[in-house]
Amino acid sequence: MQREAIQSAPQAAAYNAHFRPFNGHPGRYSLYDVIYTCPETGGLLEVHHDIDALRTKSPDAWKALIDSRAGRTVWPYGSGVWAMREWVVPDLRDENVVSMFEGNSNLFWADRLGQQLGVPDLWIKLCGNSHTGSFKDLGMTVLVSVVKQMMADGSPVRAVACASTGDTSAALAAYAAYAGIPAIIFLPAGKVSTAQLVQPIANGAHVLALDTDFDGCMRIVQEVTQDKQIYLANSMNSLRIEGQKTVGIEIVRQFDWQVPDWIVIPVGNLGNISALYKGFKLLMDLGIITKMPRLAAAQAERANPFYLSYLDDFSEKVHVPAGQTLASAIQIGDPVSYEKAAKAVQLSNGIVEQASEHELANAAAKADLTGMYCDPHTGVALAVLEKLVARGEIKPDDRTVVISTAHGLKFTQFKVDYHDGALNSVESQYANPPIYLPADVKAVKEAIARRLPD
Ligand SMILES: *Cc1c(COP(=O)(O)O)cnc(C)c1O
Repeated sequence: MQREAIQSAPQAAAYNAHFRPFNGHPGRYSLYDVIYTCPETGGLLEVHHDIDALRTKSPDAWKALIDSRAGRTVWPYGSGVWAMREWVVPDLRDENVVSMFEGNSNLFWADRLGQQLGVPDLWIKLCGNSHTGSFKDLGMTVLVSVVKQMMADGSPVRAVACASTGDTSAALAAYAAYAGIPAIIFLPAGKVSTAQLVQPIANGAHVLALDTDFDGCMRIVQEVTQDKQIYLANSMNSLRIEGQKTVGIEIVRQFDWQVPDWIVIPVGNLGNISALYKGFKLLMDLGIITKMPRLAAAQAERANPFYLSYLDDFSEKVHVPAGQTLASAIQIGDPVSYEKAAKAVQLSNGIVEQASEHELANAAAKADLTGMYCDPHTGVALAVLEKLVARGEIKPDDRTVVISTAHGLKFTQFKVDYHDGALNSVESQYANPPIYLPADVKAVKEAIARRLPD
């Protein structure tokens, strides 16, 4: 990759962004300060961009600029995230960008599955086709880049840390290793897939497997990162949201800047749907789009606090003990980004729906039969899609995008157990186990004839 940066027009200097409290409380903090929540209310922060400065460029000029960068070879603009650099962290210096060409993931035309489900204009955004196999790369490139700049400018930060259900730690460990920054990972012992556990180990992170669940790990990492030398990389850190918001923008770009009707996304800690909304809101503010897609948040029935809040019109935040689910990355009972996500659903005229273990596993397997290879979280989203179509919420003509959040290859045991019929609470409707035969031509021909009758 070419390392020369484009010397584009009177550069970014005019564009600027800072942290401010999400709930409207006054306050303004540098993106390079070690701060995660409002010091007065304890509420979440958000990255606020100077929209007037961004509006000095026309919608068409922005579209042309981003189209000219994304997926191309001029570093770092080829990255799907850094192609939108002015919208993400405008004043990050080139030498501090830690990018592994994230984004630019396939928007898969799910033609056959869409026909089967009665929504032919169905697309699956394959965010798992990424460096560490999940959409978490989109947020980590931003967070680790900012940390690199902080450290270069003399900040006391010495390491980055996160609690994780598996994918956050894989992404953090990889980006930190690429940048040469130590990473400390807090995982719930025995509750992440082998592939997810081994990723941070391979990348040299300090992996602490704790005898608790994700919510327990989250409490401990928040204590540990009170020490300003250890920087918190969970999505309560709103730098992550800035990177993740590019996924919605990228979808719009992939449709030649047209907006889909629906986006279905599996949610746990609720950073991802908050980010999705924030990306679309930016496009609205800049006049690049004029309608908001409707957002459907998909939860696993066994870890469904957001669904329960939704049933009660978001009158209050619900937390539950997260039950064990195959969708382990969303096995979260006390979601951090609740306020942001509730607003995202409300302001997008959205919906929250849930899926059982049986439903999610079979929805994933059904999609696999049309050429996909779905992880259980994508299964949750697909099961919810089926319900919303059946209820008539999603109409046959609606252009619908399902966000596939991770790569199926991270969840081999889920696939093996499904096709062995060995998953608890799941009846494998599409099990396709191998046929064991002697090495005998006659037996083989008979087996084929049984499978492919005339
Ligand atoms: C992190 C993750 C999610 C949920 O994202 P949140 O921001 O926690 O809501 C969904 N699927 C996968 C595979 C993930 O890794």
